[in-house]
Amino acid sequence: MSKKTQDYNVVAATKYRYNGNGRTYLPMDIEKIFGENAFGLEEMKSRLPKSVFNSILATIEKGEPLDPGIADTVALAMKEWAVERGATHFTHWFQPLTGLTAEKHDSFITPNKGGGAIAQFSGKDLIQGEPDASSFPSGGLRATFEARGYTAWDPTSPAFIVENDNGAYLAIPTAFASWTGEALDHKTPLLRSMQALDVQARRVLALFDVKDVHKVYSTVGSEQEYFLIDEEFFFRRPDLISTGRTLFGAKPPKGQELEDHYFGSIPDRVLSCMLDVEKELYRIGVPVKTRHNEVAPSQYEIAPLFENANIAADHQQLIMLTLQRVARKYGLVCLLHEKPFAGINGSGKHNNWSMSTDTGMNLLDPGDNPHDNMQFLFFCTAVVRAVYKHQDLLRASVASAGNDHRLGANEAPPAIMSVFLGEQLEDIFAQLEKGPARSSKQGGLLGLGVPVLPHLPRHAGDRNRTSPFAFTGNKFEFRAVGSSQSISFPNVVLNAIVAESLDVMATMLEERLSGGKDLESAVAEVISEVLHEAKPIIFGGDNYSEEWHREAERRGLLNLRTAVDALDRLTDEKNVRLFEKYGILNEKELRSRHEIWVEQYFKRVNIEAETTEAIARTMILPAAVGYLRELTEILAGGAQVGLTCDGVRETAEEVSRGIDALRRALDELNRQNRALGGDTVHEKAEHMRDHVIPAMAAVRQAGDDLERIVDHERWPLPTYREILFVK
Ligand code: ADP
Ligand code: MG
Repeated sequence: MSKKTQDYNVVAATKYRYNGNGRTYLPMDIEKIFGENAFGLEEMKSRLPKSVFNSILATIEKGEPLDPGIADTVALAMKEWAVERGATHFTHWFQPLTGLTAEKHDSFITPNKGGGAIAQFSGKDLIQGEPDASSFPSGGLRATFEARGYTAWDPTSPAFIVENDNGAYLAIPTAFASWTGEALDHKTPLLRSMQALDVQARRVLALFDVKDVHKVYSTVGSEQEYFLIDEEFFFRRPDLISTGRTLFGAKPPKGQELEDHYFGSIPDRVLSCMLDVEKELYRIGVPVKTRHNEVAPSQYEIAPLFENANIAADHQQLIMLTLQRVARKYGLVCLLHEKPFAGINGSGKHNNWSMSTDTGMNLLDPGDNPHDNMQFLFFCTAVVRAVYKHQDLLRASVASAGNDHRLGANEAPPAIMSVFLGEQLEDIFAQLEKGPARSSKQGGLLGLGVPVLPHLPRHAGDRNRTSPFAFTGNKFEFRAVGSSQSISFPNVVLNAIVAESLDVMATMLEERLSGGKDLESAVAEVISEVLHEAKPIIFGGDNYSEEWHREAERRGLLNLRTAVDALDRLTDEKNVRLFEKYGILNEKELRSRHEIWVEQYFKRVNIEAETTEAIARTMILPAAVGYLRELTEILAGGAQVGLTCDGVRETAEEVSRGIDALRRALDELNRQNRALGGDTVHEKAEHMRDHVIPAMAAVRQAGDDLERIVDHERWPLPTYREILFVK
């Protein structure tokens, strides 16, 4: 083992920190700590006058407008609670279109006349904030002379305390908009889309004669994949620091081929970190539930219990933040990038989605009796139709430079959207599509012409891991979401497109009902007609296969290979109308998102390309040249004493050729990096896609080839073999 490797291993394996107090194990009382740092319903109930509590409860649970008259009372209670927990500051916590979270802290402290100070926090402070918005991306929504934006309290998502060794602050989830009322964030359209879904879903439920439902909301549970690596390696890799992924790195002798990592026992240091992460999340009320090793070495997963989509989206951000923050206490760095390492699996986020009533009914749960089954089939058909009609939007909702590495490769669902239903359900749908002709004579599900739905096992473990959109017993799992992205927009799209399908299908149903048809035959007709059109989207086979790519093309399904292709669909006429019709995003808001995301693509690839060039030029090339010098010195010295040194000569020739190849690739990358491709963000993004990315790949190839032959002692970057296997 070389000295350098030894150094890394020793530091990585011994110098991590056990969160201050050594190995002392303190049992965690989950019931006691869960939510202790969140201002949830229980806390409100115990601190607010009954009338105020009931008013805010109606807003949270039934979606009734917030009564501004109660703001001062709630603010006072919230402040007292926060101060008791050591908070000195508060922040309006929001989600700008960077996909990250933003916060600016203000102290509670106001000086008083006597020269002292008191903690103050009014209803106005709670309800509205005015951060300087000029530095957040707005995609042209905000002229520079009107740089201000405002944040507005979202009472439906609990405020929480963020703790640090030296203090604490109160974080209040808020929406973020311009003064002209345009949404500058992820939360606003998510809330609007939930509203649209609520209206249409209740309309359908009314047709099925379901009473007592005040609200339908989408439910989301998203499984987060991530890597944990030793910080020692991280800080020695400029590519990881600047771009979140390795831009160089030869395939290690051992990768994931032994399949020995998935569900394997969790390394001790990693487990300590996970337990700490979970404890922190429990305390702010994030219901994390599962943890395990993932497929790639050093890759893991964490998943919470599902919640209403708005809270789930906030909590998802908190999961990412907490993972990154707590990892550092253990000398680890959490990588959330979609593809941190070439040649082994990347990370995604499985977005489990369903619809639920305030009475606790899951609308995608098959149910036990024919009526429930019929209703389930109606909602399920609406989802299938939605995916078929709006493949472009779903694809665009997960489009990013990072995710392009996954969706194109055979490790994650392909860029082609399709729906997996499972054999049983696919069979039932095939029968339903043929129509109600065979009627109820077969003793079927009322008029639907099929046998009563077999009791679908609730946790029908999904047997198809390759589908981008799979039915998994009582929910759909959208698997194409990127690991680092906010889950908000994918859920905005899901809510929007299902709302539209429910709208269309409810209208079809109403027409038939008012024409005198009974519910069963009307439902059967609608389902049959819709499925007849949408069935090309249903696919139960291997999504990774070449055949599927050809078959999908035959079926006329979209295959939007890159993020730029996909994002361009956002502003198609059909999509502008969809978002406007349901009041989710107006045309300006939609165009601004298109602009921002294309720009982000361009900027990200640009940073990667510049970093690739810098590493190749200032680290890899000098290492290779230094090694060549050493070899040629040996050759010269050998010649003097009459040695032929054939092996050294061959090695020197090999290294020299490698340097030539790197140099040529580097010159091309440099040319492409200096070219702009055009003036618009869009032209620049296309330049990145078509010219810069291939040039970067060539430099990487040359660099990785050198890594295999240059003296390890001289190699300036920690290798995959070290990063992925030293824990
Ligand atoms: P599986 O492992 O088969 O995907 P799980 O029950 O473990 O099934 O679910 C994985 C994720 O799906 C979890 O985050 C879970 O909370 C979430 N989930 C379960 N039911 C629903 C639902 N009705 N709506 C949204 N998410 C759900
Ligand atoms: Mg799953």
